[in-house]
Amino acid sequence: MTIQAYGYATQLPQNPLKPFHFERRDPRPEDVVIDILYCGICHSDIHAARNEWGRTTYPFVPGHEIVGRISAKGINVSKFEVGDLVGVGCMVDSCRVCDSCHSGVEQYCSSGFTGTWGSTDKIGGTPHSYTFGGYSNKITVDEQYVLRIPKNLNLAATAPLLCAGITMYSPLNHWGMGPGKKIGIIGLGGLGHIGVKLASAMGAHVVAITTTLEKAVEARKLGAQEVLVSKNAGSIQKEREQFDFLINTIPVGHDMDPYIDLLKNDGTMVVVGAVEPLTRVNGALLIFRRRTIAGSLIGGIAETQKMLDFCGEHHITCDIETIAMEEVNRAFDRTVKGDVRYRFVINMSTLKSI
Ligand SMILES: [Zn+2]
Ligand SMILES: [Zn+2]
Repeated sequence: MTIQAYGYATQLPQNPLKPFHFERRDPRPEDVVIDILYCGICHSDIHAARNEWGRTTYPFVPGHEIVGRISAKGINVSKFEVGDLVGVGCMVDSCRVCDSCHSGVEQYCSSGFTGTWGSTDKIGGTPHSYTFGGYSNKITVDEQYVLRIPKNLNLAATAPLLCAGITMYSPLNHWGMGPGKKIGIIGLGGLGHIGVKLASAMGAHVVAITTTLEKAVEARKLGAQEVLVSKNAGSIQKEREQFDFLINTIPVGHDMDPYIDLLKNDGTMVVVGAVEPLTRVNGALLIFRRRTIAGSLIGGIAETQKMLDFCGEHHITCDIETIAMEEVNRAFDRTVKGDVRYRFVINMSTLKSI
């Protein structure tokens, strides 16, 4: 027995997303079935749908910023009840026995976490040979990989916290950012805008570092105390050696040296955007100030729950534009052009079975 589901899928890299029928597994004893209410559009959904990383299997159902309501549960489920509002991010399983899984950083699982889309089910028995994402009406997920959504948050605007939010929260949390720290958020897109909100809610002094002056007003509204225009060499020069911490969301390879030079002694720049070779770095910039360049990938399950609870306490959600399911292809094109403030979220009640 399986659950009949439907959503939107691409069949080939160059094809648009279209309605698609498929199956979800019936709940195992530890599973919950979630009726999906909203799903955010993440840039990696687009990269994968268009096979820009060269490893997509088709048909492909994107979506890993899922918010919904539990409609059924397995007999051993203890964390959740039917009717609970929950979220699912980028992971739906991991090996659970390696050092990473044991220490709550399942995103670094030594055998690779099971992605919400495009991954093989580690246990087996799932109707399809790989996972299908959240641009759909239902999903079946092990309760250990399901998050609780704070009741006071707008559900649609919460969805992107499941990927964009945790991507920014995890480095801030891991490196102990808070009051007294001067933090630069490089890039003011889907990731950067929520990074500014989170870092300022933690009490840090937040500087939005952006290429365009036009974003200055918006950045201040999001909580940035200052805005640094990175195209202006003079203003970058003035801020040399001023920052404790930088999160670099630039999605492509770029010259990192001007940013590294913003860091104080022992400062750290964390790369979360560019999943590709980065241009060469001048070692002297690291050596003479004991600076660090690091990377960070989403966050573990417990840390993601901590992030959601933090957002509930501080009333933080993403700035979004809600769309109907049939508008998804245009939303993909607009996301690629950077024409969105700051994240698209699909209202799944607009998804009609055909
Ligand atoms: Zn994502
Ligand atoms: Zn593991």
